[in-house]
Amino acid sequence: MTFRRALLLGAAILIVRSAIVLYLGDQEQQRVIIDDIIFPVVNGLAALSLIRAARATRSQDEMMYIAWAFFAVAQVLYTLGDVLWSILEIGLGETPFPSVADGPYLAYYLFFLIGVLLLPAAYQSTFERLKSILDTGIVTIFAIIVFWSFLIAPTIATLEGSDPLANAIAVAYPVADLVLTFSVIALIFRRMEHIAQPPIILLAASAVFLIFADSKFMVEALRETYVPATLGDSFWLVSYILTGLAGVLQVESAGVPVKPSAERPSPAFTWPLYLPYICAISAYAFLIWSIEHEDVNLYIRQHHLAAGVGMIILLIVIRQIIAIKENIMLYAAAQKELHQRIASEREKELLIKELESKTTEMERFIYTVSHDLRSPLITVSGFLGFLRDDIEKGAWDKVRKDIEIIEGAITKMDMLLQDTLELSRIGRMMNPPEDVPFSEIVREALEQTSERIRSRGVIVDVAEDLPVVHVDRMRAVEALVNLIENSAKYMGDQREPRIEIGCMRDGETVFYVKDNGIGIDPKNHQRIFELFYKVDNRSEGTGAGLAIVKRIIEVHGGRIWIESELGRGCTVFFTLPLSEKS
Ligand code: ADP
Repeated sequence: MTFRRALLLGAAILIVRSAIVLYLGDQEQQRVIIDDIIFPVVNGLAALSLIRAARATRSQDEMMYIAWAFFAVAQVLYTLGDVLWSILEIGLGETPFPSVADGPYLAYYLFFLIGVLLLPAAYQSTFERLKSILDTGIVTIFAIIVFWSFLIAPTIATLEGSDPLANAIAVAYPVADLVLTFSVIALIFRRMEHIAQPPIILLAASAVFLIFADSKFMVEALRETYVPATLGDSFWLVSYILTGLAGVLQVESAGVPVKPSAERPSPAFTWPLYLPYICAISAYAFLIWSIEHEDVNLYIRQHHLAAGVGMIILLIVIRQIIAIKENIMLYAAAQKELHQRIASEREKELLIKELESKTTEMERFIYTVSHDLRSPLITVSGFLGFLRDDIEKGAWDKVRKDIEIIEGAITKMDMLLQDTLELSRIGRMMNPPEDVPFSEIVREALEQTSERIRSRGVIVDVAEDLPVVHVDRMRAVEALVNLIENSAKYMGDQREPRIEIGCMRDGETVFYVKDNGIGIDPKNHQRIFELFYKVDNRSEGTGAGLAIVKRIIEVHGGRIWIESELGRGCTVFFTLPLSEKS
């Protein structure tokens, strides 16, 4: 059956019963008979609907299936109660209360509660779980106050007979309704996500109607104003119809997958969060009212009521403390996240900048390499032409010269290629860094450059207290060899050539190689680190030395710069990672 049809059927039943009740008017006996037929039938249909719902849920979710099975059993029990009631009332003409019918009736409330508790709970953090337990507690205390004041205590007060079983059953009903109320509260606070599902909403609504109908009946019975089988009893019928509709809807939606449990309840379902406060205010208002109306006979003692209100306040205070703690933690977590994001954003920007400069560097590198490699090639091809001409002419002395120039160009090209290769190797082929005293690196570099130093008559001055560095030893020596060679090479006509190697400790440790040679014009300070750049094209060397040094320093995470003026010597400064020990 589709939900639409079930809805129409439910509405039809309601209208037909109302019409019959109105038609029968004062004929109470007839009305009771009609109700004794309609109620078990409607309840039976609802039970069937829930059984089908449980079976349809089986393939979907094990826990959901078990919960629906309990709802179905509860409804079957209720129907059984109705049937027994009807048999007693119209079949045997006995008073159906108290009777065997009460057994299944009361069992209904228990099974319904178990069903609710078995429904899979929405995902909650520890804080949320604590809060929902407290919320449930607060609303339950309020419900206890209300049920006790208006139903349970008055019922106890009216007990007359000495049959303890009958008395117990009489009190059991308001208590059972309290249990049902608790079921609804538990459903609201612990299983918010499920209450967002239409079938469960209908089931909760049916429970609410049942509680209302039961309470209405009990209050009227206590006041002895209850008339059986009137329009007022429609609340019960509405409750049963809603139960049936819940089952039909569950069958229809069983094919639809359940929402993932981590999903938050939709904003529309945050209203239960206000419920504890509404209950607290109501309980307090009730207390004040009871104080001001001393004359009214209340079934709850004032100090009990005050204790209940006190409990509610206590739970609310605990709830607030938990909420404050939760807020502090959430705030801290949000702050942390924010900072992390800002930091990673900055890091990203830096990386992008670095990448951009690397790309530019790479482009310039490719341009330089291809440009500089072309020039010896042009020489070769040009002189091959001359060579052919000279051979044809038989100008043999010129031929030798041509060959020498071609050889020279090829050697140059080989050197350029070797330097390019060397540059590309740095960074790719590094030895693991080790702790080396910088003085040792200097010593090794001086050994390798000793010939040039001696031939130029350079005095080398090495500082004493050099620190221990954490570097790729071979590469560090290579860098220093280049720097010392440059210093020795570009001495010009200095009569007292001198190289000074040392370090400055001014916050940061900065090493330097200083000479008193020809120096470099400040306008060339940046360019000399470019690959193949030479201030004077006629000077010996490829112009790759400082580019290689710069690369070595940079792969160690250091910086390199120079201070120099034309004719006033040159100082190359650089930083290197220090050993943790120094
Ligand atoms: P190379 O020495 O092979 O020419 P480098 O890259 O080592 O290449 O140096 C680039 C240029 O910087 C050199 O051609 C030279 O003009 C200048 N230079 C390097 N070091 C010094 C120095 N200590 N004093 C003066 N000029 C220098």
